[in-house]
Amino acid sequence: MATAFGTVFMPEMARVDFNGQEWGRAAMVPSDQLVLHPGAHVLHYSSTCFEGLKAFRHQDGSVHVFRMDRNIARLAQSSRLLALPEIDEAQVAQMIRDTVARFADEVPAPPGSLYIRPTHIGTEPAIGKAAAPSTQSCLYILVSPVGDYFAGGATALRLLLEDQGMRCAPHMGMIKSGGNYASALRPITQARAEQQADQVLFCPNGDVQETGAANFLLIDGDEIITKALDESFLHGITRDSILTLARDLGMRVSERQLTVDELLERAAKPECEAALSGTAAVLTSVGTLIHHGQEYAVGSGQPGPITAKLRQALNAIQWGEAEDRHGWLTRI
Ligand SMILES: *Cc1c(COP(=O)(O)O)cnc(C)c1O
Repeated sequence: MATAFGTVFMPEMARVDFNGQEWGRAAMVPSDQLVLHPGAHVLHYSSTCFEGLKAFRHQDGSVHVFRMDRNIARLAQSSRLLALPEIDEAQVAQMIRDTVARFADEVPAPPGSLYIRPTHIGTEPAIGKAAAPSTQSCLYILVSPVGDYFAGGATALRLLLEDQGMRCAPHMGMIKSGGNYASALRPITQARAEQQADQVLFCPNGDVQETGAANFLLIDGDEIITKALDESFLHGITRDSILTLARDLGMRVSERQLTVDELLERAAKPECEAALSGTAAVLTSVGTLIHHGQEYAVGSGQPGPITAKLRQALNAIQWGEAEDRHGWLTRI
């Protein structure tokens, strides 16, 4: 597909509204418009959260959604932490099933997939509610067919290590919410322009955290090191899946604090690898770290073999080529 990721949409989506008392009935509606009052809470006070998950087509034509339950649970958590109305998880699951089923024929074959973007926004027209939640909300399931993320060939990313600023306020880190991305935009734009970096790896006070939209994994021989879960960063479902597969493959998984100093020291070893994990790109190699104007290659500086092996192991399950031993797929 020659178009940019996430710019092609299927013409309909499932939608449901919370009227202040209860959720209505979900309906399939056109996906190219949403009427909002200009005073809607989301437009002023960022009461918004979303999810990103994928449906895959298998060789026999069947369509499967990857880790739907975990994504819905995270949407419920984000909604709760933002004081949006509590979602009905069973209803959202049915809305995802309905939307994917509606466009099942248009789910691209691997390495493509159907990207699913559940979105929950505060819709109450109330500009006086800067410090109060929206009583009304809207939840919809937008879907977008996506192609091979690595169509241009897999290259290793350049990351700027930012040890001063943070991606977002620490108590907001585990919420998948629009304001966090807006908050990270300026440092990322600056790093692209000034250091030719692809992404910023946020390391507040030297604590290696994550980039603007992906988790960070250091792979040193048979050990994977990544930050232990706390409320300061997003708990990626790809991160969890990769760590699970790494354990299955007999690797050691260390979820703990990783400092910039340790990262740079380990990166100098020739066999060291680093990667970013997230639903869109699965697992992408990191080749170069930029710190205080100096560049450090991670291992060979090229995409590494263990990163490729872990990505293939995850893709094999998603694509129906390996047994789904952990029950991660939901057949539509
Ligand atoms: C979505 C996201 C991730 C990756 O989460 P997945 O569930 O693996 O897609 C990591 N960090 C941030 C900030 C994100 O928004």
